[in-house]
Amino acid sequence: MRRALVAGNWKMNGSRLSVEALALGLRERLSGCDGVDVVVCPPTVYLDRLQCLLEGSIIGLGAQNASQHASGAYTGEHSLAMLKEFGCAYVVLGHSERRALFGETDEQVCAKFAAAKSAGLIPILCVGETLAEREAGLAFEVVARQLDVVLKAQGVGALEGAVVAYEPVWAIGTGQTASPEQAQEIHAFIRDRVLVESEQIGSALRIVYGGSVNAANAPTLFSMADIDGGLVGGASLKVDEFIAVCQAAG
Ligand code: PEP
Repeated sequence: MRRALVAGNWKMNGSRLSVEALALGLRERLSGCDGVDVVVCPPTVYLDRLQCLLEGSIIGLGAQNASQHASGAYTGEHSLAMLKEFGCAYVVLGHSERRALFGETDEQVCAKFAAAKSAGLIPILCVGETLAEREAGLAFEVVARQLDVVLKAQGVGALEGAVVAYEPVWAIGTGQTASPEQAQEIHAFIRDRVLVESEQIGSALRIVYGGSVNAANAPTLFSMADIDGGLVGGASLKVDEFIAVCQAAG
């Protein structure tokens, strides 16, 4: 049995006051999620405060991105060791916004993945096709390429304990969700690709879905055989909505 994971990606939203209210609201009201790993990924500047506010709760912390470098002249970046100091156990890597807006390549994502593993953080590797790629019949090919870059460079062992997030770009922040069947099809494809390399790692791999997940669609999405939870953007900024999504994964 795979343990479900629901991670909230707060992106570049909030203020000192609003993220505190969100964190405290979750801490006070989250219940019925004993079987779920619940994680929030706030903007980096708020990690310090959130580490204090969430201490002793079941809510874990994650980062939205990290540098692949350990230290040095990389203005504006944060190393994995720094993120770990602030209690991050997870790190989202290769989010489509990083790929599209900041030009992150498969190779950079792969290097970040390796760095996360050696720093002892759990990478959440985001993969997913754009609308144009889906319409051109390339969804499987794109997802395979984004996954294979890690599999080939680091071997299947690197995926042990890691998380893959299938996030079709056309469903992110658009209110348009992949149907449970569309998502399941890609999740099964990802799992099969890993199973071929290692039965044990493939069957234990957590594959979460992201793309306009909310309280209403989460129960059906999470009922699919290979969907092990969600990576949640917009709905993770609302206490009740995010709690309902987490409960749907339990
Ligand atoms: C995301 O940013 O990872 C995401 C899935 O966003 P949303 O839930 O808002 O589509």
